[in-house]
Amino acid sequence: MTKLKSVDLLVFAPHPDDEVIGCAGVIQQAVASGKSVRIVFTTNGDGYPLAASALFGKAEADLTGVDFARLGEARKGEAIAAAKILGLDASNLLFLGYPDGSMAKTPAPYDRAAAQADFSRALRDSLPSRVYVTDRADEHPDHRITYQLVREAATASGYSGELLTFIVHSGGVDWPSLGPVFEKEAFGGRTYPAGVSWPPPIRISLSAGEQEVKLRALKAHATQWVIDNGYLVRFAKSEEIFWPARNHP
Ligand SMILES: [Zn+2]
Repeated sequence: MTKLKSVDLLVFAPHPDDEVIGCAGVIQQAVASGKSVRIVFTTNGDGYPLAASALFGKAEADLTGVDFARLGEARKGEAIAAAKILGLDASNLLFLGYPDGSMAKTPAPYDRAAAQADFSRALRDSLPSRVYVTDRADEHPDHRITYQLVREAATASGYSGELLTFIVHSGGVDWPSLGPVFEKEAFGGRTYPAGVSWPPPIRISLSAGEQEVKLRALKAHATQWVIDNGYLVRFAKSEEIFWPARNHP
């Protein structure tokens, strides 16, 4: 396997769109300061029946494996389009192609071993000074397993750079609310985002221009925008928030 070029910043996205949701501002700022960026996608986001149904105009019950594979290809294309908006291109992206929605399911031990090897290689070759990944407290199983795999890869490769996490799913689709900044919100007897400290230790400001570009990159994930725009738009805030993973197990 060809060795990957080293980069300054490595972003792990469980699905196409998570890289924009969590890190579009950080990526733009890195590109603007001449830093190199690689985005690693755990899955192609192929296991989303609602999105496949909307894309192909079929009832969910009529969807076939071919439809899901085509959705995955469409989402890869959207990830490339979004990357271009952020100042990157396809050569900055690595699609691992693991099955969407079942990364955390057992047994599939071959998947786990292969994923560990792929994550370790991505981290070892990239030699980043900083890594971004979804938080272990994220409610989506693919997001949690991506965090776990990155942690294991960091240990296996002796990675000593910074590892920062971001939250996408906490409180279903009720967090975050629409508004310029992220807030701690209480509903259903709990506070969100759950499982992380508040206020977030790292808050990165986005300029109005960066926020606008982030919104365009979110829209480039068209299969998601069509069905989830009311949710996705809430991440186009004037800031992005992160937690250092060093205190996580
Ligand atoms: Zn996701």
